[in-house]
Amino acid sequence: MYDVKKIREDFPILSRELYGKPLVYLDNAATSQKPRQVIDALTDYYTNYNANVHRGVHTLSQEATDLYEGARTKVARFINADEPEEIVWTRNTTESINLVAHTWAKANIQAGDEIVVTPMEHHSNLVPWQQVARESGAKLRIMPLAEDAGLDMSQIDQYITSRTKLLAMVHVSNGIGAVNPVKELAAKARKVGAAVLVDGAQSVPHMPVDVKDIDCDFMAFSGHKMLGPTGIGALYVKRETLEEMDPFLTGGEMVLEVWYDRASWNDLPMRFEAGTPNIADAVGLGAAVDYLEGIGMENIRQHEVQLTEYALDAFKEIEAVDLFGPLESERRGGILSFHTDIVHPHDLGTFLDRDAIAIRTGHHCTMPLMRSLGVVASARASLYLYNTEEEIDCLVDSLKRALRYFGDGTR
Ligand code: PMP
Repeated sequence: MYDVKKIREDFPILSRELYGKPLVYLDNAATSQKPRQVIDALTDYYTNYNANVHRGVHTLSQEATDLYEGARTKVARFINADEPEEIVWTRNTTESINLVAHTWAKANIQAGDEIVVTPMEHHSNLVPWQQVARESGAKLRIMPLAEDAGLDMSQIDQYITSRTKLLAMVHVSNGIGAVNPVKELAAKARKVGAAVLVDGAQSVPHMPVDVKDIDCDFMAFSGHKMLGPTGIGALYVKRETLEEMDPFLTGGEMVLEVWYDRASWNDLPMRFEAGTPNIADAVGLGAAVDYLEGIGMENIRQHEVQLTEYALDAFKEIEAVDLFGPLESERRGGILSFHTDIVHPHDLGTFLDRDAIAIRTGHHCTMPLMRSLGVVASARASLYLYNTEEEIDCLVDSLKRALRYFGDGTR
């Protein structure tokens, strides 16, 4: 049985109080909280194993290397990659996508080619492709939004065509919570010979994700959104694609042999990891993966679906609020992004904060999406494995009071 009370006990920060009230943390799409198991893994690493990796013959260095490479193996298994070598460590999703833009895209995208993205991309899966298009002369094409703010699949064949070289798409939108049919879209891209990149920043932490089943070339995600530390992320690259790619950054670690006038490249994936890597945080991310697997990604998804349905029901009763994104739970992640004419999202966020409720307000790094929805900003509550129905009740209660307060001045 899913024991949310027991799960909450693993997260020290969740027992904090703000303004005399228990913290209700609903900003998980921005970053997740960390369980004691992850915090302990970091302390244990620095207390007992700290050394540089891949270099030393001494025992500490070998132990540190084993922990670091062990974490890579865990992450590879977590998304069902064929082998750990297909996981390149990065700082976060943004760096993972930029790595592809600066290596694979530079070598493969030319004038006349098309890069296709969804209308709900985070800036980190949009701006790099704007740059690639500008530099190469390729065209960037934006798929259309449907009425319910999901992806409009009816016109998809006009977008994914023989000119498409890359389909880069967000799996779960951080702006509105829509889950995109990435497997179906990847199959269409494959048919026309295009490469496929999936921004998994909001899917890998929340649901079972299988890169082989999706059949993508690239999957980018961040450790800090999946209970891991900040500063560590990953890029999955299918082996055959990775083998063809030139290095991103150059210097130590990524080379095999160096002469004064030239160098040869190290094995995969070290070829893409120049300099001393973020060892401790990779180990911390490995502990986060252990924790998530211990609970089970299917169970986590189920918990979030139930909680989202509970929240959607409660939101239906608040007339003054428009909720963005598809309403069916299978087409949505645990993200509730909403707008009201009564109060600016920032004022609402401040009001809720006084009730110790943490939500995000703003454009969520999806400015073009917000413009398409006719707003400059939204308020966003985002759920995770430790959230409860009582916390949704707190949100709804505080939201109703805020609407009264900003609407007619009564509390
Ligand atoms: N893509 C999506 C869908 C996201 O939600 C985020 C983070 N909000 C990112 C990319 C960027 O992640 P990071 O800041 O960790 O690079």
